[in-house]
Amino acid sequence: MAATNVSVSPLVEVLEDPTHALSWEEVSAPEMAARFQPQSTNGEDFNVGMSASTYWLRFRLQRTTDTPNHWLLEVPYGNLTSLSFYAPGQPAVHTGSLFPLASRPYFHRYFVFPLDLEETPADFYISATSSYALTVPVRLHEAAAFAQKEHRDLALQYLYYGSVLALLLYNLFLFAGLRDVRLLLYSGYVATFGMGIYAGNGLGRLVLWPDSPRFDEIAQGALLCLATVFAAEFARVFLKTRSRFKVVDKLLLSSAVVCLLICAGLIASMGSTTAVSLLNRLFASLTVLTVFIILVACAKAWASGEREVRFFLLAWFALSLGGLVAALRAFGYLPTNGLTAYALQIASAIEMLLFSLALADSMHTERERMQQSLSAALATQKKSNDMLHRSEERLERTVAQRTHALSEALTSQKETLAQYVRFGSLISHEFRNPLAIVSGQLSLLRKEAELGTPRWEQRSRVMLAALKRLDALFEQWLRKGRLEGSLETIHKEPIDLCQWLRQWMEDNALATDHQIRLELAGGMHTIWADPGLLANALGNLLENACKYSPIGTVVSISIHRRPGQVGIAVADEGAGIADDQQQKVFEAFYRVAPEGPVNGMGLGLNLVKRIVEAHMGEIELASTLGQGSRFCIWLPHEPTAAQEPSTCTATAKPEFWS
Ligand code: ADP
Repeated sequence: MAATNVSVSPLVEVLEDPTHALSWEEVSAPEMAARFQPQSTNGEDFNVGMSASTYWLRFRLQRTTDTPNHWLLEVPYGNLTSLSFYAPGQPAVHTGSLFPLASRPYFHRYFVFPLDLEETPADFYISATSSYALTVPVRLHEAAAFAQKEHRDLALQYLYYGSVLALLLYNLFLFAGLRDVRLLLYSGYVATFGMGIYAGNGLGRLVLWPDSPRFDEIAQGALLCLATVFAAEFARVFLKTRSRFKVVDKLLLSSAVVCLLICAGLIASMGSTTAVSLLNRLFASLTVLTVFIILVACAKAWASGEREVRFFLLAWFALSLGGLVAALRAFGYLPTNGLTAYALQIASAIEMLLFSLALADSMHTERERMQQSLSAALATQKKSNDMLHRSEERLERTVAQRTHALSEALTSQKETLAQYVRFGSLISHEFRNPLAIVSGQLSLLRKEAELGTPRWEQRSRVMLAALKRLDALFEQWLRKGRLEGSLETIHKEPIDLCQWLRQWMEDNALATDHQIRLELAGGMHTIWADPGLLANALGNLLENACKYSPIGTVVSISIHRRPGQVGIAVADEGAGIADDQQQKVFEAFYRVAPEGPVNGMGLGLNLVKRIVEAHMGEIELASTLGQGSRFCIWLPHEPTAAQEPSTCTATAKPEFWS
């Protein structure tokens, strides 16, 4: 023996005693020696998994001359219900997890036995039973090396528990602030799992419940049961299984309930090794099933595109791997070494860390989603605000349009009313006068007939004149109706204005008491107009100029040009029109002096204005009271080579009709 820490497992031979009846005296008897079998060919620790038998281990030890004779033999596994150590020449030591701590010769979480080795070989025996997996690793240490190893082991152990505690406190603080139930379930899981490992490593028995071996026997199972309950609930909430994976949710809930029942069962069956062993087996199978269900749920969530389950999935994967390694070791398929012995512990540390990451990731993703939906809601609100704003604007515009249309309709109604009023007064004046004349002449004629001196000729002449006037008035009135029709079917054509004017003057052969002067400026003056309507407009203007100016004065007709338009002006030296009347004279039935001596219907200028507007032209009026008036109609000039008439030999010299 030269090394300071040595595994004795390669030397171990094993004998199974299912009856628990054999004693050391019996198994150490020479006739039993042959029944011991080498347990391993590759130096692994003795491990039979779950077994209800008692196992006897025998190994032969001797020291080399250069090594001390005082050694420590360690069985680094806490879940051995009973363990007896037999060294030659020393009293047997009976201890185990169900025995008081005082039964251990060395205060340690596992089982450590001091022993002296001689240079001559000697046989050592161990008998062991377990309600968990039955594994009996055997190590031999020099005292100083053992102390070193212990320090290293404990440092690692407390590093683990310190990390678990830090995670627990951190997540509890987070829960206090965020009130997220996932943090609470995660904290519950970390606490119970950590404590389960603590119990399983034998530290609980040493520190927390030294006088409760019965409780120590079930502590690991019960705590890990609770951890499974928390894990199942945590997974349900984290993966939102209730609303999405109904079957998975029911399975997880059921396994949580069964785990709780097992936990209660373990507490109730404290002291009954068989029941505890059975419940532990049940729990182990259920845990495997639960982890499998959680992995399936994770895979489903992952498949539906949830990126945030990746850490959660990894965490369970890590734990499953650790659990698998631990189980394979427990059932003897894997050797017991630092990695396999602490596989679950290492995996759980990784798992807890990954859970933390999963929670942070999930919260981050949720916050991102919330922000996204918040911005979407804001965008929608802005859109609807804009729409509201636009429809308000539309409404305002429509209201403004309607108001405008209404006010125009009102104005037009007022205008129509005013027209009717004016029309009524004109009728009473213009139509009644000739009728009164006729009626007066008739009564005079009757009286003259009674006296025998009827003046037929004179009376009939006066009556005829009155009737003619009446007829003229009717004609003027009817003309308005006819013109309405003509305005709808306007036929424009190019007109050489000089030529047309001369012709028009000749055709109408004006017999008037005024001097009509035609001033035709040089050059071509082509307009696009309806000749009939143009004649109508010009006739009205000329008639007015004669009607409202003294006999013998000059009435001139002249042609003018400005860009795009040609103007025909009719000017007189008459009474003129006051400034405030100059707009009104264009209204229908409007007359400046309806009671005056000049007859009329107030329709002429209104017709002129409408004709001009139908030609897209304008009418201008310049007038000074007592000096005369000048009406000018401007019509569009649209010359084209094809439509231009031959020539207009206009002269700048005025031409007179008298
Ligand atoms: P009417 O001549 O039948 O009364 P108009 O519409 O032609 O109707 O003219 C409207 C009013 O404008 C006339 O009643 C008259 O008072 C005034 N008016 C028109 N032309 C002249 C003019 N050349 N000089 C002065 N007043 C005019």
